[in-house]
Amino acid sequence: MAVMQTTRRADRDEVIARLRAALPARAVLTHPDEVMLYEYDGSALDMALPDLVVVPGDTAETATAVRIAADAGWPIVARGAGTGLSGGSVASEGGLVISLARLDRILEIDPAGRSARVQPGVVNVELSERAAPHGLHFAPDPSSQKSSTIGGNAAENAGGPHCLKYGITTNHILAATVVLSDGSIVTFDRQAPDAPEYDLLGVVVGSEGTLGVITELVVRLTPNPERIQTFLAVYDSLDAAADTVSAIIAAGIIPAALEMLEGDGIRVVEESVHAGYPTDAEAVLLIEIDGLHEELESQAGEIAALCDRHGARALQVARDEEQRRRLWAGRKGALAACGRLKPHYHIQDGVVPRSRLSEVLRLTRSVAARHDLLIVNIFHAGDGNLHPLLLFDVREPGVRERAIAASEEILRACVAVGGTLSGEHGIGLEKRDYMSWIFSDADIATMLAVRAVFDPRDVMNPCKQLPTGASCGEIRHAAGAARAVAAGAWI
Ligand SMILES: Cc1cc2nc3c(=O)[nH]c(=O)nc-3n(C[C@H](O)[C@H](O)[C@H](O)COP(=O)(O)OP(=O)(O)OC[C@H]3O[C@@H](n4cnc5c(N)ncnc54)[C@H](O)[C@@H]3O)c2cc1C
Repeated sequence: MAVMQTTRRADRDEVIARLRAALPARAVLTHPDEVMLYEYDGSALDMALPDLVVVPGDTAETATAVRIAADAGWPIVARGAGTGLSGGSVASEGGLVISLARLDRILEIDPAGRSARVQPGVVNVELSERAAPHGLHFAPDPSSQKSSTIGGNAAENAGGPHCLKYGITTNHILAATVVLSDGSIVTFDRQAPDAPEYDLLGVVVGSEGTLGVITELVVRLTPNPERIQTFLAVYDSLDAAADTVSAIIAAGIIPAALEMLEGDGIRVVEESVHAGYPTDAEAVLLIEIDGLHEELESQAGEIAALCDRHGARALQVARDEEQRRRLWAGRKGALAACGRLKPHYHIQDGVVPRSRLSEVLRLTRSVAARHDLLIVNIFHAGDGNLHPLLLFDVREPGVRERAIAASEEILRACVAVGGTLSGEHGIGLEKRDYMSWIFSDADIATMLAVRAVFDPRDVMNPCKQLPTGASCGEIRHAAGAARAVAAGAWI
């Protein structure tokens, strides 16, 4: 096991004085009313107050803040938009939160090189909007894309509906500038096709703020497809919908997106968003294909035949961009819509082999019944990435504990059928202690040794993603209770 050096924590007044001497006044937030805004993320289970918040204006200010906090032995938690769903930007050990909100500029768009240089606080969808006149877009499209930041996407290695065909965030990051815990500024770059160095960029993407603070990125931009076709396949049986998913991929078709909504999820989304989903269906598949006119004709025919063969009762084709937009508004607004059912939520993020989808979905239903919970599934079916959404009212005695137990049971089932702990939301605090379900002691020790090279003092988002030792204590899932679903309403 890698040994990380710990430093005695200097007291708050001392750190405030050092930060104020080194940074512009507006960059250092100390008032409880301001600091309180940074005590949560979208994960619903954990909340913790940081001691202080710094909002730097550039890489140099970020490095200064990191150096001062690290020298004082303070935990340092980078924060994008705080939409994370695994507690990653919650300051569970206290310390300094560094908000990247002011580093929000698109520095350059290079249409010829199909890339963009951006600061980490740029909101995901804004990059695609700015790239649109060049016929390009940023392919990773998490459902939170109207609010989550590209820095947060890189740190979580975020996915999204269209990542089935285009790949997850790591496939679209070409370079990153990172502030390490000693305040040094390093750039990891893999723009050369066959770079001679270690792929440290690959290590940083998905490291959830545990290796350093990302302050600049070069990202790949993807050409907009010539044509897009979107289908809604409607089912009276969950198994039939799940079988269609496997059949489409088995036929060698990689749709741009292949999403599933089931049961109550369909009804509540329809009531809220009016997306055009049939409310009496047991499951619907949102299938999108894109590419050249000619190839789409034959793919559309194959998909229609597969849906029919596997029991779809209807197949609608979006007739224009407006109808396509409405179908997607339903999928992307699903989490917020579920606020109509219950005021609080906990969303799980497990992965299963596609061939085991229906089995685990059925199990999810039995877990819901056994724990007397409402669970809806709205998820990325094409890559087997389940998102059981556990809905409850935290004022009901004992319900939070039941939700946590049910969530763990579902995740164990995912692992048992050969799946894994997370498809896109990361490990954060929430699943840190589950890592030993799938990794050996030697695996974990190797990852900790890598972490210690970047951060020998264990100050960068400590106690997240990997169990870093006794100092981390038990995860209490306490203070926060569950967050109101209404929080998702701004997504
Ligand atoms: C309604 C809703 C839908 C969602 N849908 C999806 C989805 O489809 N796919 C998906 O993958 N996720 C989804 N998420 C989860 C979340 O939006 C993503 O994880 C997103 O990438 C987080 O970005 P953020 O800017 O909010 O980061 P934060 O929540 O602020 O931080 C997330 C993690 O990244 C670290 N971090 C943030 N910025 C930096 C930085 N500059 N340098 C180093 N570390 C950093 C933090 O320390 C933390 O560990 C969804 C969330 C919500 C609320």
